[in-house]
Amino acid sequence: KEEIAPWVWHHRGVAEDKYIGKTDTREKAAILVLVRNSELEDIKHSIRMLEDRFNRRYNYPYIFLNDKPFSNKFMEHVARSTKSNTTFALIPQEHWEVPDSIDMEKTKVEFEKLVSQDIVYGGSLSYRQMCRFNSGFFYKHPLVQNLKYYWRLEPNIDFYCDIDYDPFKFMRENKKIYSFVIILYELKKTIPTLWKTSLEYAKQNNITSNLLKLFVNENKDYNLCHFWSNFEIASLDWYRSKEYESYFQFLDSTGSFFYERWGDAPIHSLAAGLFLNKDQIHFFNDIGYRHDQFARWPVSTTTNEFGIKCQVPKNIKENFDVASGECLNFWNTYKPYEWTNLDS
Ligand code: GDP
Ligand code: MN
Repeated sequence: KEEIAPWVWHHRGVAEDKYIGKTDTREKAAILVLVRNSELEDIKHSIRMLEDRFNRRYNYPYIFLNDKPFSNKFMEHVARSTKSNTTFALIPQEHWEVPDSIDMEKTKVEFEKLVSQDIVYGGSLSYRQMCRFNSGFFYKHPLVQNLKYYWRLEPNIDFYCDIDYDPFKFMRENKKIYSFVIILYELKKTIPTLWKTSLEYAKQNNITSNLLKLFVNENKDYNLCHFWSNFEIASLDWYRSKEYESYFQFLDSTGSFFYERWGDAPIHSLAAGLFLNKDQIHFFNDIGYRHDQFARWPVSTTTNEFGIKCQVPKNIKENFDVASGECLNFWNTYKPYEWTNLDS
């Protein structure tokens, strides 16, 4: 292990030998993982999955981020689970800590309200810090400044299908900015004012969108559909753009990451709705994936329409796309609708 600065450890993977004296055709991209020491086994599982299905052939580097120092045990075990380069780093404190402007007494009252309604993570401050970090800070980390794309990886996920091409290259060659595998409904009680705040932002900035209507229901309210951001391959230049940053700053100024429980997933999704076109977003239908209890895979499994091998464990009975595919159906049937002045 090589210590570059007190807050970053780098481990050179043996796969780098393959590139000595050869042209390195990899994209400027990395697998980005925000994770805690306590999740060692679960993140090793995710790495094993990703290596098996994709990265053992492509050798993209991993970057692990944490608000607390990684333990030596964590770094050593993780570094040994891939042939790729691994880097372990702290998050700058100012990207994680609760801003001074937040009224902590008020958060206590609001947390209680969500806890009493059994809202998952309703009483957790660190969950809110994580969601805020994943909304407005991950792309500002010093280690990702020279990267164009990132692949977000979370602990305890499964990949079911071989990915025998480079999704990063696919993104660049097809001018894709954002991508997803699961689109689903958010819990309304976690984001009571997110839609209203986003429309305010759009009006103040005279934004004309032809994608935001994807997220509107019959009552002109947010239909709660969002791309599930625990899987995400996306352009870091987009996150670093002035418009994304100004949207994040506008949202952050309300304090509702803390007073409510805004997730980064609906925020990424509404930002995509505000700033992107449908053809800049890619649904990776060929990527079989599970996070928590939700799993999906291309409908015909063994060798599917893409000619890609998938294997779904026998205990997984329900394909989320089939069982709960309302949002995916909205996506599949959405026709770009120019929405000016966000009026009707
Ligand atoms: P869920 O997917 O919404 O249930 O939330 P997770 O518990 O999976 O958290 C999302 C991601 O953030 C995962 O990669 C976690 O490892 C990471 N994460 C969550 N809370 C913390 C935290 O307090 N510190 C760090 N370093 N990572 C966190
Ligand atoms: Mn998770």
